Amino acid sequence: MDDLAERVAAGDRRALARAVTLVESTRPDHQEQALALLDQLRGLNRQALRIGLSGTPGVGKSTFIEAFGMMLVDAGLRVAVLAVDPSSARSGGSILGDKTRMDRLSREKGAFIRPSPSSAALGGVARRTREAVSLCEAAGFDVVLIETVGVGQSETMAAQMCDLFVLLLAPGGGDDLQGVKRGIMEMADIILVNKADGDLKATATRTVADYASALMLLRKRPYDPDDFPKALAVSAVEGGGLDQAWAEMQSLAEWRKFEGHWDRTRAAQAAHWFDQEVREGLLARLSQDANIKAHMRDSADAVARGEVTATAAARAILRRLT
Ligand code: GDP
Repeated sequence: MDDLAERVAAGDRRALARAVTLVESTRPDHQEQALALLDQLRGLNRQALRIGLSGTPGVGKSTFIEAFGMMLVDAGLRVAVLAVDPSSARSGGSILGDKTRMDRLSREKGAFIRPSPSSAALGGVARRTREAVSLCEAAGFDVVLIETVGVGQSETMAAQMCDLFVLLLAPGGGDDLQGVKRGIMEMADIILVNKADGDLKATATRTVADYASALMLLRKRPYDPDDFPKALAVSAVEGGGLDQAWAEMQSLAEWRKFEGHWDRTRAAQAAHWFDQEVREGLLARLSQDANIKAHMRDSADAVARGEVTATAAARAILRRLT
C-alpha cells in the first residue's frame, strides 16, 4: 500500500488506475485499503482545477474534451477526465467505455481518462467519483474534468465536487428544446455553445446572445465576478474559441481563489459529502439487517395505505438502531 501511494504521488498513471479501481471496488477489504490510501495521500494537499462539464448526448462533449484536453496537454498541463453516468448500469456500458472516444487524448502521457463506474446507485457513483478526483489531484493532475450527461441528478452531484461548472449547448433552440433543465443552467458558470462552425456559425452566435441575456438574470451570485456567468461560442471540431474558454475558466478560478470563494466552496462541499456519507451509511446499516429491512418494507406499505404517518413509521425504524 505504501508503495502504491508513493507511485500515485509520483504521478504514475498505471498506479493511479489501480488506485481508482480500489476505490471503485465494493469489496470491504479493498474499501479499507482505499481509505488508507486516500488518507496517506491527503497530506500532499495538492489541488487541481476541477471542472464539471455537462451537456446532452450529441452536443459534442467527447469531441470537446478531446480538443480541449489536447490543448491543455500541449500547454504542458496534465489532464484527467472522469465521467459521472448513473445510467450506465442500465445501458450496460459507460459513456466513456467506447474506446473510440477521445482517441488522441487517451494516448497522451499527460492525460488520464477513466470511464464511469458501472453502479446503479447514485450515492456509490458519487463517492467513487469524488475519491477518484482526490486521487487524480494527489497524482499531480492540473485539471480534472468531470463529465456528466445532462439528466439532472448527476449534474447536481458533479456541481458539488467541482470548482467551476461548464454547460455545453448546441446552436439554436431554447434550453427546453435542448433537453436542459432550468436547474442545470442555473448551475453553469460558463455556457459554451458548441458547433460554431460552417453553416451553424451564425446560429451559434445568435444562441450565445440568447443565453447571454438569460444569464444576465443569474448575475450577482456572491461567488461570481460581475461579468459571470457568461456564454461563449466554441467549435470543438475546428478548435475555435477553446483558448478563450480556457482563459475565462482560469480567470474565474483565479478570482474565486483571490476572494476566498474557492476555499469556502470546497469546505462547504466537504461538509456536504460528510453529511451524505452519514446518511447513506445509516441507510446501509438499516438495510443490512434482514429484520429491519422487512420492517422497512412493511412500514413503507403501511405508510402508502395511509395506516400510519411517514414520520411515525420512520421514527419506529430509527428507534431500532439504538
Ligand atoms: P457527445 O455525445 O456529447 O459526447 O457528442 P460527440 O462528441 O460524440 O459529438 C456528437 C456529434 O457532433 C459528432 O458527430 C461530432 O462530430 C459532432 N460535433 C462535435 N463537436 C462539433 C463541432 O464543434 N462542430 C460540428 N460541426 N460538429 C461537432
